[in-house]
This record gives sequence, C-alpha cells and structure tokens, in this order.
Amino acid sequence: MDYQHLAELLFPHVKETPEDIEKKYPKRNLPEGAKVTRFAPSPTGFVHFGGLFPTRVGERLAHQSGGVFYLRIEDTDAKREVAGAKDGLIRTLSHYGIEFDEGAVIGGDKGDYGPYMQSKRADIYHVFAKQLVSEGKAYPCFTTEEELKELEKVDKKAEIKTKDWHETEDYREIQQTWRNFTMEEVEAHLQAGHPFVLRMLAEGDPDKKFKITDLIKGDLELPENDKDEVLLKSDGIPTYHFAHAVDDHLMGTTHVIRGEEWLPSLPRHIMLFHYLGFKAPKYMHIAQLMNIDENGAKKKLSKRDKGTNLDDYERQGYAPEAVNEYIMTLLNSNYEEWHTANPDKSFEEFPFNIKKMSTSGCLLDFGKLTDVSKNVLSRFSVDKIYTDTVDWAVKYDPDFAACLSADPDYTKRIFAIGRGGKKPRKDLALFSDVKGYAGFFFDPYFAVVDPIDEKFSRADVVKTLDAFLASYSYADDMNTWFDKIKTIATELGYATDMKAYKANPTAFPGSVADISGFIRVAVTGKQNSPDLYTVMQILGETKVRERIAKMKETL
Ligand code: GLU
Repeated sequence: MDYQHLAELLFPHVKETPEDIEKKYPKRNLPEGAKVTRFAPSPTGFVHFGGLFPTRVGERLAHQSGGVFYLRIEDTDAKREVAGAKDGLIRTLSHYGIEFDEGAVIGGDKGDYGPYMQSKRADIYHVFAKQLVSEGKAYPCFTTEEELKELEKVDKKAEIKTKDWHETEDYREIQQTWRNFTMEEVEAHLQAGHPFVLRMLAEGDPDKKFKITDLIKGDLELPENDKDEVLLKSDGIPTYHFAHAVDDHLMGTTHVIRGEEWLPSLPRHIMLFHYLGFKAPKYMHIAQLMNIDENGAKKKLSKRDKGTNLDDYERQGYAPEAVNEYIMTLLNSNYEEWHTANPDKSFEEFPFNIKKMSTSGCLLDFGKLTDVSKNVLSRFSVDKIYTDTVDWAVKYDPDFAACLSADPDYTKRIFAIGRGGKKPRKDLALFSDVKGYAGFFFDPYFAVVDPIDEKFSRADVVKTLDAFLASYSYADDMNTWFDKIKTIATELGYATDMKAYKANPTAFPGSVADISGFIRVAVTGKQNSPDLYTVMQILGETKVRERIAKMKETL
C-alpha cells in the first residue's frame, strides 16, 4: 500500500508538516524540575466539586516548582457542549483562587502555546493525522456511525455490554475487515463523498503487558493496546485521545493529572505518543471522590448527588478559603498536622507532596467540611468576615446585605464578638449562618424563636424584666451588670450559687442562669446567643429597653 498516496488522498488540504508545527511550539524555557500542568475540562456544564482535585494538584505542582499551569478547553464534542460553560468555569475556578498562567480566558486566549480551545486546532490535528497515515499507522474507516450503532445493538441483544464489546472476537473480526481496504475502495468512497473516521492501527498484543509508573497509583502493568481507536471523527474533529497526545506534546505538559476513569485508555495514549514520535508525559490518575449512600456504603460521587456542583458551595455560603482548606486535607494526608503547626500560614506555603496523596477514593464528608469551615471563618479578621459576608449576601440575600452594610461599624462590632485571641468562637460555618447567629441585631430579623420554658412562672419572668429595666444602666461594666442580675435572682429566690443549685435543684425555682435567660430571650429572641452583656452594649440602651418592654406585653 502506498501510504503516502493514501495520506494525500485523505488530507489533500494539509500542506504543513509536523516540523512546521513543532517550530511554532518551541520547548519551554523553564528552570530545571519545573512542571507544566494543565486543567483540561470539557465545557459540558458546571464544574464538578471533584474537578477541584486535579485542578488544585496541577496548580500546586506547577507553582511550587516554578512551572506553568494552563487551561485548555476540550470542546471537541459539540453535542455535549453547553453554551457559556467555558466562561462559567473560569469564573468558578477564579472564585477558588485558581488562576491560570496561560490558556483560555474569558473572551479569548493568553499565552504562546495556543489556541487553547481544541475546536480551534483542527488544522494542527490534521497535520499529525496525515503524518500517521503516511506512515501506515492510521487508516480511514468508512463505516458510518449508523452502521456502527447497528453492530453494537446486535451485541447488546446478545447481552454483551457495549463497554466490553471491544474485547470480543466479533469486534476483532470487524476491526480486521476495516483494516483490509484497498486504495480503489478508498478512492471510490471519497468520490462518492462518503464520510470516514480515522482510526489508529493498533499493533499491540493484549496478552502482553507493558510497565508504566503512575505517580499516584505506582508501578502498573497494563495490556498492550490492540484497539483501533478513532482519532478523527467523520467531521474531522479529533477524539479526546488524539487531541490529548497532540496538545499535551505541543504545549509542553510534563505531568498529566486527570481522573482515574482515564486509566483504561492509557495503553492507547502511550501507543499514540509512540506513533507520533513524542515523549509521553508523566501521568497521575486521581481516584474519584466518594460519597456515602443511603445504606452507609461508599460509592462514587455521581452527578445527581448533593455537593457535586461547585457553584452550590458558593450559593450556600461556604467561603472559598474553607473549601480550599478542606480540599487540601483530602489531598495530602499530612496537611492537617502541618496546618495545626502553622495556623497562620496559607495552604500555598504547604510543601505539597505527590507521595502523600491517597491512592483510593477520598470521602466527601460534609461534617468535616463544616468543622474546617468553622475553623477557617473563626480566623478571619473582623474586616474580612464583614466584607466577605456582605459580598456573599449582596448576591444571595440582598435584603440582609442592606441591613449588614447600613452601618458597617455596628455590624463589625457584632463580628468582633469572640474574634481574635487563641480560642476564637466558632459559631459560623457559612456566610449564610450569620443571619441565624446575629440576625437579631437587626430589627427586621428579630423574632422570639425560643420562647421561655413553660416551667417558669410568668410572674417571675415579668418581675425579672421589670427589675432589670429598673436597675439597668448602659454605663455599667460587666461585673456591675451581672451583680444586678444576681440581685434580681436572689430577690426571686433563684439560686446564685451554681454548686448549691446543682446539688439540690428542686430547692429553687431556677438559677441565675435562668434569670439571665429570661432577659436573653427578650433581647435576642433566643436561648443561646453570644455573650449577653456584649450583645447589649452593641444593641444600645434604647433597643434593649424597647425589646424588654415588648416582651413584657406578650406575657
Ligand atoms: N477533557 C477531559 C475530561 O473532561 C480531560 C481529561 C484530562 O485531563 O486529560 O475529563
């Protein structure tokens, strides 16, 4: 077979050679050991929470080594593409502090190794496709997609899953017929305007294994590839496999970090790199994120599960810092230890280590995420928690945002409660928790949500409120303020000595804690609140008196 002639027949429009293309993609000038990594999503909708894993690993490895981290949009499947998804994913990732050194950006590209959208690279793929054909390593297959589907249906009837179809004798037989074409047949098809797909001619023997080291999974032995994978679809657009080899070579990727679902395709990819004369990159296949199903068993996080869409985390009010922190705890087993020793350092200072990555699926644990979030938010400065909460509320709870920002100093005093010091309060896991925690500081959100327990006499409650109003002075310091509450307790026969009360609770109608509880409910609407004295200092005398008086009316 004259492969050169075949290549001309199939790609008459291609005039450039691989050497011409290579010249446009010179070797990157980077320091020794610098890693070039990429995030290569298909813009098929939202960013999956699990997508943050390989992305963060790529970002860390590149930036830790003085390398390059870039974004390539794998939009070769027009059927699955969702309009606006590319810009959406750039925005989402940027919310999590993931910025690319080069690659696709909103409205275009930045960098010298583009275009970074695969749909704009068809000409490049064709040059390499032509090369493969001219060397007898790829061939046209004129089977139409319909025919292919029919064949698959026949096998489905025979109860063979499509996935396994490629392993069957039938498939091998069909592959043989595809391979046995003549130049005359190709010419006739082309003349008749029949579309074709381009397949690689796989010369592997699946009974033989080859060795490869995955930087996460370790040393692997994989079967050689004998599947004539489609490289170009009938519209001339490449498949993932072909585009991966061409792009990662030209763009100088040193480490391919991707989901482990791609591991079965690795033999094909290695073969392709070899056919094309490219050095294969290093691979890291990351285990998929796991979830707990209704029976308590671990299962892969599916698209329908709660917590899949990364944008939902923002909507719910998770701080991006908290999500990042949580991802780090999942990614590197020693991260938490490091973080405890270095509480004030950013995760970017952590020496991220591939060897400390989990080889099996990490579990998405919302309880843990909440704990991490509480810690992260508790360490925010007053200004930061104020600004970030307001920014969040402007987007997702504008009425509350208006309340929060009406008097910034007032709101900041609220956020200052229990903040700073060695053991800050950990009341907030989400920006959306602020309303439940501190909404009562704002009249539109004040309501008595936890009424005073029925077991206390209403007369005692009224007496407490009256006595408090009579003795309250805004200028009192905390001790004087509390002494006054103690006096009220004593007058009503409530215990002020908590030890005595605990030893004999039935001897008293209640304790001083219950007395301040009555006042607390009147002032905050809740049984639990931040320190009541501080709350009153922030609310101011007028509001305190107003609320207590109002409470009395309802009793
Ligand atoms: N486009 C592929 C995906 O969406 C990328 C896999 C890779 O990173 O190579 O999964």
